Order: sequence, then C-alpha cells, then structure tokens
Amino acid sequence: MEPNELTIHELQAMLRDGTTKAVDIAGSVFKRIDAVEGAVHSYITLLKDAAFQAAEASDRNIREGTIAALTGIPVAIKDNMCTVGVPTTCGSRILENFTSPYDATVVKKMRDAGAVIIGKTNMDEFAMGSSTETSFFGITRNPWDLERVPGGSSGGSAAAVAADMCIAALGSDTGGSIRQPASHCGVVGLKPTYGRVSRYGLVAFASSLDQIGPLTKDVEDCAIMLNVIAGYDPKESTSVPAPVPDYRSFAGRDIAGWKVGIPKEYFVAGIDPDVRAAIEGVMKIIEDLGAECREISLPHTDYCVAIYYIIAPSEASSNLARYDGVRYGYRAKGDGELLDMYKQSRSAGFGAEVKRRIMIGTYALSAGYYDAYYKKASQVRMLLRRDFDSAFESCDVILTPTSPVPAFRIGEKTDDPLQMYLSDIFTLSTNLAGVPGIVVPCGFTSKRLPVGAQFMAGHFEEGKLIQVASACERHLAATKRRPAL
Ligand code: GLN
Repeated sequence: MEPNELTIHELQAMLRDGTTKAVDIAGSVFKRIDAVEGAVHSYITLLKDAAFQAAEASDRNIREGTIAALTGIPVAIKDNMCTVGVPTTCGSRILENFTSPYDATVVKKMRDAGAVIIGKTNMDEFAMGSSTETSFFGITRNPWDLERVPGGSSGGSAAAVAADMCIAALGSDTGGSIRQPASHCGVVGLKPTYGRVSRYGLVAFASSLDQIGPLTKDVEDCAIMLNVIAGYDPKESTSVPAPVPDYRSFAGRDIAGWKVGIPKEYFVAGIDPDVRAAIEGVMKIIEDLGAECREISLPHTDYCVAIYYIIAPSEASSNLARYDGVRYGYRAKGDGELLDMYKQSRSAGFGAEVKRRIMIGTYALSAGYYDAYYKKASQVRMLLRRDFDSAFESCDVILTPTSPVPAFRIGEKTDDPLQMYLSDIFTLSTNLAGVPGIVVPCGFTSKRLPVGAQFMAGHFEEGKLIQVASACERHLAATKRRPAL
C-alpha cells in the first residue's frame, strides 16, 4: 500500500520506527492528487509548497526526537476555517479574494500538533447545503460514483479522505455537514458536543448550531483528531471548560451490557431498503457484542426539519449581514451610491441558496414574525432537547441511519430545495439538542454506494461514541474497502 492509503495511527508507527518519512507521505498524497483530483475536485486551494516545507520540518523534528500527535500527517481543512495567509472562501464568490490574517483555533492546534496542511476543501457556499453543489468553485464528485454527490456541505473533505487525497480532514457540522458526507463517502465523521471544540476562526453560519469535527478513515484516527482539537478556548465564548479525556483510550473497549436506543421515529417509510438493512446489520453486531438494542421514542423528531430551517436561516441572515462589500471580499462598482454598492455586491457575491436563506431568515426575525417563528422554533427545540435528556436516562447511546438514502445523483435535487432539506432529516436533531454524533461506515447498497450508521450520545460523551463505533467497526469490513477510482 502507498502511504497516502494508510491511517494516521499506521503512519505514526512508521514515522516513529523510521520506515517512512513525512516528505514521502506528502509526496504520495500529492501524487494521488495529481491522479484523481481532476475527476473528484475536492479542493479549492492546494498548498503544495507550504506542505512540503512543513513535512521537512516534521522530519527534522522526528530526527531530533520530538514527535507530536499529528507530526508529518497530511490533513485537509474545510474552506470555512481561517488559515493565515491563504484564501478562506467558504465556497463563495463574496469571499473569493479573502485571505485571513489569522489561524482558526483548530488550525493552530493542528499545526501545533505537527500536522501538514495540504489544502482547503470545497464546500457548499457558506456550508448551506447537503451536496457540495452550491460552491462558487464548482461541484465535488463522489469517489465511489463520479455521477453522484459526495454529500455536503463538507463534501470536499469527505471525498478527499475517501479518495486518499489526504489522511484526515476537518469539516464543520451545523445540521449534518460532517456526518452526511461521511456516510455518503464511506468514511468516519464526528460532530462533537456544542462547546467541545472552539469555533474561533470558523466562518459563522448558524452560531447556536455550528461545530467543527474530524473526517477520518477509521475510528481510532477520529479519536486522535478529536484529542487535538477539543478543549476550552478563551477566545470563544461558547467553548466549555470541561476536561478533555484521552479519546483514543476509548477505542477498543467492549460494550457488553450497554443499552443502545433505537428511536422508532427514525425508521419510517421512505428509507432506502439497503440503508435499512445495513443499519439492521449494525443492530445484530451490537447484540452479538453483548449489548442490548431497545426501541425508544424521541417524540419531537417530526419537528426537526421545520425548527432547523427557521433557526439556521435566521442566524445565517444575521451572521451574513457583515458581507457588505466594504470589509471583506467581493465589491461591486454600483452606481456610485453607497447603498447601491451594498446591494450590487451582495446580489452578485452570494449564490441562490444563500440568498434564499437570508430572505427566509430575515423574514422569520422581523418584527411581528419573530414570536411566531424564531421564538416558537426555539421553544420546540427545547422540547426536542428534553427528548434526548430522557432517552439518555435509559440508554448509553442511540443508533440511527445517517440519511434516508445513499448518495444521490448530481443535479437530482438542485431544483427542489425541500427535497434537499429533507436529506438532513436524521442529522439535524443532534445539532438542535447540542449532543455529539458519530458516523461509521456500515455497509454498501446494491449499487455499491457506502452507508453510514449514526450513533448519538449525551453531552460531552464523545468517549462513548468512539467506544461503540470502534467496537462495531471491528466487525464491519466497510471501512476496509476503497473506491475504485
Ligand atoms: N444541509 C444542512 C443545511 O443545508 C446542514 C448544513 C451544515 O451542517 N452545515 O443547512
């Protein structure tokens, strides 16, 4: 196997015993990028020179005996995380020329841990979408079937990991944007608890929902990445000063005696039969491992799509007000009047989906409608959160499908926003409740498309997610297969 096909923990062992060098790993990653990036289009920006410099520095450090958690490991960063000196576009024309003057906390943490940043990945514009089709920089294709979407909005990160064009990546998840592409591309993805990972330097979409998390080739790598990025950040007011356990120590522990909740609301009509069968296969493994699957109810599940598509656009309309053509990015000429310049810059700078969200959100927040929409949605959100609190009184974790269907065809849902929004039906609840969720590849459909199982746990119980996902992973061959690009 080539180095780019291996995991973080496999490469770490090889770097330690001298069987490989960081520059060789970087070399194999860029060789792969040269071969398949033209077909997949995972990246908006590649940072080849900087990556080789970082790899050389890693090799020097290793020679001197200092090796940190990610020393010499090539990683990709979603293009909504600020990275000093290089573009951070959010997949939008309005930020096409924006270069960040500072690193996001997660980016800094990755660098401090020795990671080699190789590029910024493609995404739906401002992370609004489920298919990576709304990027101003073009679509990303699913490495398992180039006629299909990789999921979104972190589709570039998921596809890059699946196609071995990096070893691991960071994504962001506001309503499923790490987990749904992980499922569609056959990789592991984790959305941490709200407050677990600092969002300082993450371009805001919906501030009460956004979290950053890893996309990796296996569960152990996911734990390694989470160890690096988790923790309190004085620069970020919603980050929580809770201790960070060694997440890696949860991988490999058994789950005998656990109670795994199966919410009946997530197994409704409309689920693809192959997806359902794959999840049922996971239930069987869980029982074989000595844990118990029990039916539970999350009664407010039906409201998730409605609540999310009020709250997320409302917060987005407020967050995106800052793009006025003056302070950041794209500026239109206009007719010489200030107001016209704002109007023209925003009209030309944002794409259709972003404008739709700004309009919905502005409407929902306006005087006379606020109580009926944003406030009402926030109240129902609290009921949903209580559903989870009571479920976790009787279960260790919850198991659900990630998405009702596998990766869909490019263009299939672009004319029908409601259909697109419905593809998030199983992932929105964790963001609304603030709880963590992990996706682990659990099988394939008859068309050879990957399917991922989603586990959810109580607040700050990421360790349990690593534990259950790694226990199942050992009995699921799905993580071992790779796309025949
Ligand atoms: N697909 C959802 C949306 O369009 C979630 C996106 C995300 O998690 N960033 O808003």
